Amino acid sequence: MPTDIAIYIFIFITGLCVGSFLNVVALRLLSQEDFIFERSKCPDCGKKLYWYDNIPLLSYFLLRGKCRNCSSKISLQYPIIELLTGILFISVYYLWGFSFKSLFLLVLAANLIVITITDIKEKVIFDLNSIPLIPLGLVYNFFDIGNQAAGTVKFAGIPFNDAFISATLGAILAAVFFEFFSRLGYLLSGEYAFGGGDTILGAAFGAWFGWKAVILILLLSLIIQMIIGIPVIIYNFVKTREYASLFAMGGLILALLMSVSGRILNYSGGYLISIVLIILALIIGGISVFVIFSRMRKSRNYTFLPFGPAMVIAALAVMFLEDNIVLYLPF
Ligand SMILES: [Zn+2]
Repeated sequence: MPTDIAIYIFIFITGLCVGSFLNVVALRLLSQEDFIFERSKCPDCGKKLYWYDNIPLLSYFLLRGKCRNCSSKISLQYPIIELLTGILFISVYYLWGFSFKSLFLLVLAANLIVITITDIKEKVIFDLNSIPLIPLGLVYNFFDIGNQAAGTVKFAGIPFNDAFISATLGAILAAVFFEFFSRLGYLLSGEYAFGGGDTILGAAFGAWFGWKAVILILLLSLIIQMIIGIPVIIYNFVKTREYASLFAMGGLILALLMSVSGRILNYSGGYLISIVLIILALIIGGISVFVIFSRMRKSRNYTFLPFGPAMVIAALAVMFLEDNIVLYLPF
């Protein structure tokens, strides 16, 4: 129906405009400029932009990615974030229509986009974007806006819906997880493994999606981080001629492969070999981790990537897939 298409186009354009606004919010947070309603200007020549050079997505292509005044390059970040936000808006509307649920999830997503930009650019997650997400998520589940509650649970004699209980547990669980591993990283390498922003963001995901989903989000984000991070870390080891660490990294990957094949063998009946494989994997993995951390401690060379973006990707995946995966978790 044509009216349907009109609504989708309207929502997409709204998303593009919001995305353009989020770009500005992120950059002005990073540059500590006063927000927001000042007119945008070119970061290179300082010339204020005309409205027609500030149209989401369109202007970038009309200007061929260059400032009209000084021809310096406009960052690809602008159109990418605008497009992503537009797609996010359409997806949320497609799944949940005009509803409180959509409204809440879009507020969440908007903050996640800003967090992703600031974390990638300067490894910082602003409290302004992350802390309010915790109470907001708890409110979202207290009133069961996401329609996730299956019933009520008595807690200290008072009945709460179970989505809210799960959300509270999820927030605590994620916070404890990050604080624990952050300190463990500090003990091993002399550097905190995660930033304080990661703890808050993890707790926020617990508050929005509950304890089961937040475990899934943590696991997924660790996998995403490894896929993105391992090549970067290896590259850095090669560049700094850190061969001991490079060797240990190879050991770690080998250990990972061995434990996976050990698991598979276990299913197909080769118990003894699988146990030997897994024990060997643990030994090799342990030595490798020890070598990497002690080298890091010695050279004071830390190559941690920001963890926020991986968590955001995982959380958005869980948000969109919802019950389709959370119901099938083995725990
Ligand atoms: Zn310029």
